[in-house]
Amino acid sequence: MSVLRLAIPSPLRRLFDYLPPEDLPLAEVDKLAPGTRLLVPFGRRKVTGYLLEVAQASDVARGQLKRALTVIDQQPALPADLLQLCLWASNYYHHPQGEVFSAAFPRRLREGKERQPPGQAGWTLTTQGKGLPAGALQRSPKQALALALLQNGQPVSAARLQAEAISPAVLRALAEKGLIERCTIAAETRPASSRPGLNPTDEQARVLSALRADATGFKCHLLEGVTGSGKTEIYLQLITDCLARGQQALVLIPEIGLTPQTLRRFEARFDADIAVLHSGLTEAQRYQSWEAARAGTAHIVIGTRSAVFTPLANAGLIIVDEEHDGSYKQQDGFRYSARDVAVKRGQLLGCSVLLGSATPSLESMHNALSGRYHHHRLTARAGTAQIPELSVLDVRKKPLSAGLSAELVAAIKAALDRGEQALLFLNRRGYAPVLQCHDCGWISECNACDARMTVHRRENRLRCHHCGARHTLPADCPHCHSKHLLAKGLGTEQTEVRLRELFGRYPVFRVDSDSMQGRDSMAALTEEINRGEPAILLGTQMLTKGHHFPAVTLVAVLDADALLFSADFRGEERMAQLLTQVGGRAGRANLPGRVMLQSHYPDHPSMQQMLTAGYAEQARNMLELRKQGGLPPFGQIVVLRADCSDARYTEDFLAQLRQEVGTSLPAGVSLIGPLPSPMQRRAGRHRFQLLATALDRKRLHNAASLLISRAESMKVRKGLKWSVDIDPQDLF
Ligand code: ADP
Ligand code: ZN
Ligand code: ZN
Repeated sequence: MSVLRLAIPSPLRRLFDYLPPEDLPLAEVDKLAPGTRLLVPFGRRKVTGYLLEVAQASDVARGQLKRALTVIDQQPALPADLLQLCLWASNYYHHPQGEVFSAAFPRRLREGKERQPPGQAGWTLTTQGKGLPAGALQRSPKQALALALLQNGQPVSAARLQAEAISPAVLRALAEKGLIERCTIAAETRPASSRPGLNPTDEQARVLSALRADATGFKCHLLEGVTGSGKTEIYLQLITDCLARGQQALVLIPEIGLTPQTLRRFEARFDADIAVLHSGLTEAQRYQSWEAARAGTAHIVIGTRSAVFTPLANAGLIIVDEEHDGSYKQQDGFRYSARDVAVKRGQLLGCSVLLGSATPSLESMHNALSGRYHHHRLTARAGTAQIPELSVLDVRKKPLSAGLSAELVAAIKAALDRGEQALLFLNRRGYAPVLQCHDCGWISECNACDARMTVHRRENRLRCHHCGARHTLPADCPHCHSKHLLAKGLGTEQTEVRLRELFGRYPVFRVDSDSMQGRDSMAALTEEINRGEPAILLGTQMLTKGHHFPAVTLVAVLDADALLFSADFRGEERMAQLLTQVGGRAGRANLPGRVMLQSHYPDHPSMQQMLTAGYAEQARNMLELRKQGGLPPFGQIVVLRADCSDARYTEDFLAQLRQEVGTSLPAGVSLIGPLPSPMQRRAGRHRFQLLATALDRKRLHNAASLLISRAESMKVRKGLKWSVDIDPQDLF
């Protein structure tokens, strides 16, 4: 008896056994390969299942086994290396296999639709058709002609048959006789070529030759290069080599905003097919890219987080740009890190992985410094650009108007007068973070969250940035009906208004997720800015990532203090990365740049380190502190989070779980909690967490398995949800 063992998208962490479809001959059953999709009944639904093995027995009694309905794929939809990668990820992240497979597939295939590999529709002879004696079908000359064209055994495209005046009806008639069948004629992979690159600087040349010496087989490289040092040029030259070897390159980038710019640079360098994969595309476009990558007709694949699961026919190189970026970590459902998965993928494929950043994560830094990764550095900017001058602007006791000090206003004016651009960073969108009644003290709190609602003046609303709640901006206080309401604190909308008052002659571009709605707005803006006319750019984090704005010479952080006092252990790392990246937007071309940080704490040690040491040294110091504290990357963390509408019940669930695990916990693993999450109530749900920490990853992994199996066996109320996060980015 053959049993099909399938992964099914469901929260259950196990595989499901099915009998093969009724009409499938036994010989065919045993030929089914892992990675093949099948349509199966699951509860009351029909779902797509992913075959992992054909077993000869099942723990389920035969009478209880359900039958799979149909085999969807002729060939496994997922190649072997990706199958292995998914299994690894499911194991490492303790996430149900079926859901991991789902994440690896484009939606179309997840929904069980048939594949449409790139290529032309065509017709080919069936076995029966091949056995036909020459001169058959004389009475139907059109059918005879069609057969004659197919006779040499090669498939012929539908277009070619049409050109020979053979109608679809003729082909259908032949198909009905069982003589011919439809097929897809695989697209030809055309050779790719590259245009000459820039003449490398000495530093670049050294890095390139080190990387080239190790070009084949699995190696992980960290390229730590200051902003504007020519990391992208290194990527381009390595991809040139990769294409010349006839292999494909996979390039991961953090944000959609970066795609147009990156894409343009790649298109200028390569005469090659570039497949793009990110959430801003339509489903059909994304699917096409996926198939082109799978078939090998795409030479270069560029995409955001989930593109790490793109199948590649012939992989030669994986690049993760801005590897420190938080968006590589998925924050819900299947909580994987695309950077870490990329490294594992390189290992499975036997190809090099290159992680690049001006501000590497402490994890990668540690791997590089301890010799696990090859470490390469670029310490100077390429071309004529200089590292910008960094200074703190002490704003204590100084009047601020919409967050702008007089000194900063003067600096902006000077930049504009010189015909240059200024970039201002303020990581808070909206007009003001809170609305308050001056008469009774009422505050615009969200009903569903432990958070305040943000004033959005332009759309005349109060909005909660955590649960999405929206209300019309009240004209008077809901509590005492006073008209005296104050918008307190600062957001980008407010500063935008002030900047327009001050610098009406110049355009002010606000860049945040409110103003940058829609697929192409960032591309359009980038184009506008790169015309190089004097202008002010004001934005949130969205504005800081990797962009290359040659005319920006002044960068200012309006509220550097906002980053200084984070409760999270990664707070200082994030601040250092963010400030360095923001600063890195200044003076990237021929003009010298300047970075000003407005702060009330100019003497704070973190601030001082930023000024005097720079990221590379600061990172090494932060690593030392992490080591002393047993924190990542030295110690490991797993978070088990739970939430439901009842605070007491949620906390009790975790407390009970902790007790259940009790003395079975592996030695060296400590549990902390249950603790309320930093924002305990969000969207009406109360959130608590249990932290497991250990120095040894294996033991922590075992502890995670134990926690999960106990949690699964506990009876809980319907509304309670829990989840596991391995290597969490935030302890929220
Ligand atoms: P990064 O990716 O490190 O931020 P880029 O590769 O974008 O750096 O390079 C920054 C700028 O320097 C770009 O305008 C790029 O064209 C230029 N550049 C890079 N390498 C060289 C080189 N070898 N010679 C001249 N200009 C270079
Ligand atoms: Zn009031
Ligand atoms: Zn809310």
